[in-house]
Amino acid sequence: LTQSQKPHIVMLPTPGMGHLIPLVEFAKQLILQHDFSITIILPTDGPISKSQNTFLSSLPSGLNYRLLPPVNFDDLSDDVLIETRISLTITRSLSSLREVFESLVKSHRVVAFVVDLFGTDAFDLANEFNVSPYMFYTTTATMLSLDLYFPELDQTVSCEYKDLQEPVCIPGCRPIHAKDLPDPLHDRKDDAYKWVLHHTKRFKMAHGIILNSFIDLEPETIKYLQEAYNNRPKIYSIGPLVLMDKKFDDDVSQCLTWLDKQPRGSVVYISFGSGGTLSHEQIIELAIGLEMSGQRFLLVIRCPNDRIPNGTYFNNQNSTNPLDFLPNGFLERTKGLGLVLANWAPQVQILSHVSVGGFLTHCGWNSILESIVCGVPLIAWPLFADQRTNAVMLIEDLKVALKPKIHDNGIVGRSEISEVVKELMEGEEGKEVCIRMKELKDAAKKVLSEDGSSTKALDELAFELKKCVT
Ligand code: UDP
Repeated sequence: LTQSQKPHIVMLPTPGMGHLIPLVEFAKQLILQHDFSITIILPTDGPISKSQNTFLSSLPSGLNYRLLPPVNFDDLSDDVLIETRISLTITRSLSSLREVFESLVKSHRVVAFVVDLFGTDAFDLANEFNVSPYMFYTTTATMLSLDLYFPELDQTVSCEYKDLQEPVCIPGCRPIHAKDLPDPLHDRKDDAYKWVLHHTKRFKMAHGIILNSFIDLEPETIKYLQEAYNNRPKIYSIGPLVLMDKKFDDDVSQCLTWLDKQPRGSVVYISFGSGGTLSHEQIIELAIGLEMSGQRFLLVIRCPNDRIPNGTYFNNQNSTNPLDFLPNGFLERTKGLGLVLANWAPQVQILSHVSVGGFLTHCGWNSILESIVCGVPLIAWPLFADQRTNAVMLIEDLKVALKPKIHDNGIVGRSEISEVVKELMEGEEGKEVCIRMKELKDAAKKVLSEDGSSTKALDELAFELKKCVT
């Protein structure tokens, strides 16, 4: 079949590399294993970042992308939460999105429109053109169960969740303490709360929800979801989808050559995802803590942000050198022992390198899945969005992560950092989380094998999608 004769899927990732990367991997699976062709439509709020650009220039044949014209955010104040900003990127792109979508429907056999959790406004477009709407859910089954239940929870509880005496009970999940709920739920009056409510009310418009998780990670929740939602929306657990692409970045060689020279399992990798930022004080404590630990490290660092924990989620065009914010003399003193990269690192290649033995992570879901696929044990240092909920799962349920102590002022001190890094790399607890992580790595391999549960779910989804030919 020629590209335009193949069943075609249109995908709409909302802003954030954590949304784009797994969606692209999903698209690749559908192209390579099930012979679809796919267009990804990307809304923007300005020029795309260097890492996005490198990433988009290496897409395989059959996978095209279209950039929408940038939306204007001049009317938004700086303290608008990212969930609001992400949602507005979509609503403000709807007319240009409609144009591109319509032209694709006219020129291809479009069978489905896949959006992610903040893209539900585009479902109307799918309905208008008689195309099946689907959702690609970028985080955990626990968060999905919370989202599907959220409109009801909103009705049942009238106070702020933090004022509840008891933890919040979500179907199929362990009760969650209000402090561990995702950020937008912390203030019911904030627009971000209203946006989450708006989207979650629309989740059920999807014919199916594709979940990037697998049974061994969240057995009870996934079983619950599959039983409760076995028809529109049907839940397809197809994870872990991890992009193992070798051509991902240009700065690859420098740090991989450095890793080649380090002993097996000796390096701790530290990264806070694509959007995470620390305060300047916290950067200093982290750097000195790493130095004090005496362990080998590979640190990805961004310019500090003293106000918000996701300072580079939208604005990543900063020309200041983040290395200038490290403690005086740090780079000289740790030369040989550590390597510091500015802004971005080829994460999957790092995690799959034999020299890496631990990962201090902000607990973004893609980072977690990548470390599971590579069998690398964790230190959980959540910053924003769903990350605190994910950290609880890693520490208490899966037991694959250690937890640094946080002072009352919100800072993790240098000695805590040094202790937890040493424990992960050399201690007894470190050995235990490492064993558990290797078990999860094996489980991930199994669900992705020929007759594994995730492979079967993807086959079933592809079968359903092919039935949608209009
Ligand atoms: N990533 C990367 N290099 C970096 C930072 C992030 O390759 O320096 C990738 C990472 O491998 C993951 C994604 O960007 O696939 C980040 O997604 P995640 O869900 O972990 O966190 P988010 O960035 O959405 O907070």
